[in-house]
Amino acid sequence: MHTNNENTDTKSRQPVSVVTGGAGFLGSHLVDYLLAKGHKVIAIDNLVTGRVENISHLSGNENFKFIKQDVTQYLFLSEKIDYVWHFASPASPIDYAELPIQTLKVGSLGTHKALGLAMRNKARFLLTSTSEIYGDPLQHPQTEDYWGNVNTVGPRGCYDEAKRFAEAMTMAYHREHQVETRIVRIFNTYGPRMRLRDGRVVPAFVGQALRGEPITIYGTGSQTRSFCYCSDLIEGIYRLMMSDYCYPVNIGNPTELTILDFAKEIVALTGGRSELIYKDLPVDDPKRRKPDITRAKTLLNWEPKVDLKEGLKRTIEWFSKQPI
Ligand code: UDP
Repeated sequence: MHTNNENTDTKSRQPVSVVTGGAGFLGSHLVDYLLAKGHKVIAIDNLVTGRVENISHLSGNENFKFIKQDVTQYLFLSEKIDYVWHFASPASPIDYAELPIQTLKVGSLGTHKALGLAMRNKARFLLTSTSEIYGDPLQHPQTEDYWGNVNTVGPRGCYDEAKRFAEAMTMAYHREHQVETRIVRIFNTYGPRMRLRDGRVVPAFVGQALRGEPITIYGTGSQTRSFCYCSDLIEGIYRLMMSDYCYPVNIGNPTELTILDFAKEIVALTGGRSELIYKDLPVDDPKRRKPDITRAKTLLNWEPKVDLKEGLKRTIEWFSKQPI
């Protein structure tokens, strides 16, 4: 059942949304989506991993405002806010390995500040959590009631534990202060506006293929991932915010493939001739990952529409117009 349960205040006036991390890859796609839905949008980003280029097309748009601020600092906004979408965080394994303390702070202190902003405004709050909270999963595919297998002290612990804390904090605000909260667990997502050198597999492989360089497969490439195109993900997240469900919901594409097959697909789609080379598998790299999306299908009537070939074509086309 897909309920359209908009924040009641906004039925008669323009809804106002705050997007933390609004200049990032996914945050900026959400900003575009919300503006198209008629929201007034305030994006907050400290530009540590976000980029002004992702929102520069919105300058002059009277429904859009950008505030350069670290969301771990107190957030004061004079407007009445209806929705807080908390997207801010470094999200690639390389980024959070370089910024472990900022990653922990934005997941903990940043989530606390964003929840405080929502509470003060009686706004609805959505946390972007992650499939990383399942760690190197012992259950496959991953359902929302799986509690995970996380190494707290490994290199990914700063991200995984920050997001696990953020989920706990979100539920605490829901239970203690009756804030209307939503939690999405995002699985691997790709598309235009990813940073070429953020270390994630999609920009890494596409960049290497377009430059004609060898494709770097970590380990044997037998580890699996399931890739969701960004527009599908944003649609799922929007539906979740507008639902009345407060427990975590996986949003991702359940089509699972090995990293080796993924590399071959990218080489074929770019028409390149890159050879495949093998490098050490990073510590704690999850061996398998695939969302069980039954909950999203049932509650939100959502499932991905863009298949991998189509999504990769759009992504490659975008990257090929960037300086690589
Ligand atoms: N990977 C790879 N080569 C690269 C970058 C990543 O083989 O140049 C692998 C990585 O080891 C992982 C998968 O691709 O198994 C996805 O990595 P990514 O960093 O995109 O995100 P993760 O799903 O691990 O959070």
